Amino acid sequence: MSRPTASGSMDAAQLRPTAAAAKAREPMNVLIVGVGGQGVIMVSKALASLAQSKGHQVKQSEVHGMAKRGGTVFSHVRFGPQVWSPTIPKGEADILVALEWAEGLRWLPYLKPDNGIFICDTKRIVPPFACLNRRPGAPLRYSRETPAEVTAHVAEGYAIDATDMAENLGNERAANVVLIGALSTALDFSASDWEAALTEFVPKKTIAVNLEAFRLGRSWIEQARIATPEAEPPAAAPAPAHLAYSVRLEITPEWCKSCDICVKLCPERCLRLNAERVVELAQPEKCSGCRLCELLCPDFAIRVHLDAALKQGSDLAAAGSRP
Ligand code: SF4
Ligand code: SF4
Repeated sequence: MSRPTASGSMDAAQLRPTAAAAKAREPMNVLIVGVGGQGVIMVSKALASLAQSKGHQVKQSEVHGMAKRGGTVFSHVRFGPQVWSPTIPKGEADILVALEWAEGLRWLPYLKPDNGIFICDTKRIVPPFACLNRRPGAPLRYSRETPAEVTAHVAEGYAIDATDMAENLGNERAANVVLIGALSTALDFSASDWEAALTEFVPKKTIAVNLEAFRLGRSWIEQARIATPEAEPPAAAPAPAHLAYSVRLEITPEWCKSCDICVKLCPERCLRLNAERVVELAQPEKCSGCRLCELLCPDFAIRVHLDAALKQGSDLAAAGSRP
């Protein structure tokens, strides 16, 4: 125990912890962001639970109340020997995991500028208010930055087409687990510990596909890390959001309960119920792709695809980005 010196004051060296000791006591800050329905909270809960099981003190805070479908959702997870505050200050996130492209950009100021790691799905969920002009195919008010442009401005960045990977595995909803796989490579927990934690948080019947998604995300990042400098992608590519796109509605007739909500609230009045009382796109030339029908349908019977824009986004993601 430190004792007062003859002069009555503590030895200064004994009082001040070394920088290394102070650093060791700093919590790990992980910020997870996305939009409603993507599984942000599941990612943060799995991480918090795993950290707690390893003896860390954990604090987690989240905002998702108004984001049932399509709104902003974010979760701060902090863990370490001692954590005082549940929220991560600006510029202090060690890792930013974004499940949606524009949300990732929105939260970038929270990332540590010198050594923060940015892991972002290139999935673009364009909100209805991005349709400024109701003309079909009109430019959207949405991020125009390309993955290469964005990741060039962070210490370590990965733009990963997690949604596409999950779709290829047969379950688009496993995109958040692809990102957990990517996140796992930046933390000290073992892959088997992550997998054990995941099995507790995903529905039982989806355990197999989620474990596959986890391994896919993990190996994608590992591959990106070992990529040679010669394999670096081209720096900048044309921005996608102002390019022409076409709208495609994917309607699942078996899920439509004929409630008429989408028909009544479509701003362009281009939907109707057919003779079987199932929704159909009666006037495709009028559809602006605003996605209100998708967001309002209580039965998830409609999905709106902005094909050209999304394809462009995927191409850019395939070009990839590495530290
Ligand atoms: S059909 Fe859907 S996406 Fe098209 S204009 Fe109507 S609400 Fe918007
Ligand atoms: S809101 Fe959904 S369930 Fe209701 S009519 Fe439209 S597609 Fe069918």
